[in-house]
Amino acid sequence: MIPRADALASMERDEFDVVVIGGGITGAGVALDAASRGFSVALVDKADYASGTSSRSSKLVHGGLRYLQSFDLGLVREALLERQLMVKLAPHLVKPLPILIPAFEGKRPDRITGAGLNMYDVLTREGLRRRRGGEEEWSPERHRTLGAEETAEMLPALAAREPTSAYLFYDCQTDDVRLVLTALGEAERFGAVCCNGVEVTGLVEREGLATGVLCHDAVGGGEFELCADNVVNATGVWADRIRPDELHNEAEVPTIRPSRGTHVTVSGAQLPVVAGAIVPAGKGRSIFVLPWLGRTLIGTTDNDYEGALDHIPPGDEDITYLLSAVNEFFGTSLGADDLTGAYAGVRPLIATGDPKKSVDISRKAELYETSSGLVTITGGKLTTWRRMAKLAVDRIVEREGREAPCRTAEIPLGMPAAPGELPEVEGVDQQSRDALAGRYGHAAVDVLALAAESPELAARVSPDLPDVVAEAPFAARREQT
Ligand SMILES: Cc1cc2nc3c(=O)[nH]c(=O)nc-3n(C[C@H](O)[C@H](O)[C@H](O)COP(=O)(O)OP(=O)(O)OC[C@H]3O[C@@H](n4cnc5c(N)ncnc54)[C@H](O)[C@@H]3O)c2cc1C
Repeated sequence: MIPRADALASMERDEFDVVVIGGGITGAGVALDAASRGFSVALVDKADYASGTSSRSSKLVHGGLRYLQSFDLGLVREALLERQLMVKLAPHLVKPLPILIPAFEGKRPDRITGAGLNMYDVLTREGLRRRRGGEEEWSPERHRTLGAEETAEMLPALAAREPTSAYLFYDCQTDDVRLVLTALGEAERFGAVCCNGVEVTGLVEREGLATGVLCHDAVGGGEFELCADNVVNATGVWADRIRPDELHNEAEVPTIRPSRGTHVTVSGAQLPVVAGAIVPAGKGRSIFVLPWLGRTLIGTTDNDYEGALDHIPPGDEDITYLLSAVNEFFGTSLGADDLTGAYAGVRPLIATGDPKKSVDISRKAELYETSSGLVTITGGKLTTWRRMAKLAVDRIVEREGREAPCRTAEIPLGMPAAPGELPEVEGVDQQSRDALAGRYGHAAVDVLALAAESPELAARVSPDLPDVVAEAPFAARREQT
């Protein structure tokens, strides 16, 4: 990414067609979409890129099997189409993941789940047929039933419980933070200027219309005006803090009341899984247990949250709930001391006044245009970021009367590293090289060049994980503050 000081200087000096507030996946998507349609774009984030909900997800690029329970077919179909597209545009970053729903004691896997999986297959195939046009694309196998042996091979942690069968289906997994950074990198390639550590404190207005944003430089101090014809609010769960009255009164957006989702990780050795698993967690709910960068990721929860939105702590009760579900299912006795990590993020819930009627808007993208011209895009999923961005930029194109169709379905996100392309660097083993290729794609060449500068930089951060020390200076030098 361009150095922060250069980005800041440009923002203080230049005028832009579009300013995007928020550098999570939604804002990054809007910046890429708008820049690739020929708009001049500035993007700011008050903290670090992807430091909000976009780094606290379950890391799945998925249709969302459970939304079939509420017959949300449109949402699932759209997400499945996007899943296919992401595998095509960022094959190094969005990878197919087998997921199992195990059964025990000779029982057949649940038939209702089987019907849901059939529907998932149909919706996937329908999307593929419509889009394919002869090109080769990743195509998920139809779901199928595995026998006892294969189930235990894919979920070694479950072997002691002797599962007798399992449904197997496919979704995809990504590194959510890298997805955001990669989209921002692409946006910059199309001329967007991005800066982190810049908080928007208000709108600049002329005759009631937004003509830019007031910014506070959270790193160097100081305020400045960033001039832009269009202002897009992509601040996720903070969305109603930018212009609360305008949003609440005009667009009738009720107050956003967040719900917290906690995840924990344990070492891969303590809960070994090669595939993901859907694990029952009581009261008809289920959680995911997923292989994740050498660890096992467990989540998530869904409980009201009233604390501050910056640095959301994982809930103690949530951690207990996740560990109980896992222990009951796998027959383990994992406790808080076994955790290697925990994180939490919030979904926007809109409070309607009646607590029983609060609606979860997090999966449904919502676009609001209010009297100042502010375009607010909120909700949605990591998976559907491209659609959300298109929705927001289409609106701007329409009101400016431009002819500028969306191009993001054809823009590759980063570049995979070709086999044999990554140089051998002393001290960096094959497992680390593979991990770097997955995380950075072709740009892993630059990380390895840094690693080659000294044995300290080539070393692993932790002996049991593939991450190398060079990634830290790479982030500091190339990905702003
Ligand atoms: C627990 C959990 C698990 C999830 N798992 C999945 C999943 O597996 N798959 C999936 O598809 N979706 C998942 N989601 C949904 C997905 O993570 C979110 O929809 C998505 O990350 C939201 O991105 P965003 O850019 O809208 O918001 P955010 O990522 O929160 O970005 C908003 C940004 O705005 C910045 N900001 C706020 N105010 C200002 C200001 N005044 N000035 C400047 N910047 C500002 C913040 O710093 C932040 O970086 C999950 C959500 C949760 C909560």
